[in-house]
Amino acid sequence: EERMVDGNVQAEDSSVELSLRPTTLNQYIGQQKVKENLRIFIQAAKMRNEPLDHVLLYGPPGLGKTTLATIIANEMGVEFRSTSGPAIERAGDLAAILSSLEPGDVLFIDEIHRLPRSVEEILYPAMEDFFLDIVIGTGPSARSVRIDLPPFTLVGATTRAGLLSAPLRDRFGILSRLEFYDKQALCAIVERTAEIFDMLIQENAALEVAKRSRGTPRIANRLLKRIRDISQVRGEREISLEVTNLALQMLQVDQEGLDHIDHKLLKGIMEDFQGGPVGLDTIAATIGEEPETIEEVYEPYLLQMGFIQRTPRGRVITKKTYRHFGIKMDEEK
Ligand code: ADP
Repeated sequence: EERMVDGNVQAEDSSVELSLRPTTLNQYIGQQKVKENLRIFIQAAKMRNEPLDHVLLYGPPGLGKTTLATIIANEMGVEFRSTSGPAIERAGDLAAILSSLEPGDVLFIDEIHRLPRSVEEILYPAMEDFFLDIVIGTGPSARSVRIDLPPFTLVGATTRAGLLSAPLRDRFGILSRLEFYDKQALCAIVERTAEIFDMLIQENAALEVAKRSRGTPRIANRLLKRIRDISQVRGEREISLEVTNLALQMLQVDQEGLDHIDHKLLKGIMEDFQGGPVGLDTIAATIGEEPETIEEVYEPYLLQMGFIQRTPRGRVITKKTYRHFGIKMDEEK
């Protein structure tokens, strides 16, 4: 089942996302700290006429990691090549990509934590000293061949830095953590997207979309697209707050950007476990989701917004959540 408020890319996103991608650091909204650092590192690398240090971008899906990787290539004035951890099955696949790079190019590896270990190991010397050490053949005729590579910049993306093995993580010179966007930044993204779509949106409507987008540009853009449809069908010249609220109600996204699955998760803990603490696996079993999906996709926002807390004994529901659902808290707890 696809969720409106899932930060992962969905079929309907891909058709528009290319046209929405900012191409320079200046166009990239929010993430001030990350941009400030990258700007300096990029400028320094260009002054030295060297490729940029390897960059690890981490943070929940939909926050702009791929976009930032393309911007890095653009700002460095080099080509952007892209692949993903799960797409590379054998060392030879990666060797083929690496040896086809031009000096200075950016190679983006999405979901880099999912690289097979055997592939990861050939990355170490490639990242450190720009050469490949690969074994050709098997059995007694096997031999090791050294291939020199052009200097390049690896940009890796992952949801959590902790998912990477220590030796891989240590080979990145620049580690940048992307944060959920605040309302103002998301509002600016919504307004920018509206402009690219050539449509008008009232400011309070844009703010409402921002408020319900879970701090995630991909979700904001997706919601806006749906709201636009409803607004057009109703013959509106400009997207109003009224239609925005109506559309979001139809899409079952509440005031805080929570949907029925969040409701199920939160209510499950409140009703079946007296608000917790309860372990991740138990929650997962109760609502029929993978623990990894809960931990990587749904929970970060719920934690960030203070709907749940992580304690050594498990997840606990907060006062805010009881208030959100208008449920009285058990005072004994
Ligand atoms: P990720 O790789 O982290 O999953 P993407 O880079 O694919 O996320 O971004 C998802 C969508 O959100 C893209 O369409 C992109 O244009 C938009 N987006 C992300 N970050 C920004 C930003 N800072 N400013 C404007 N648009 C953004």
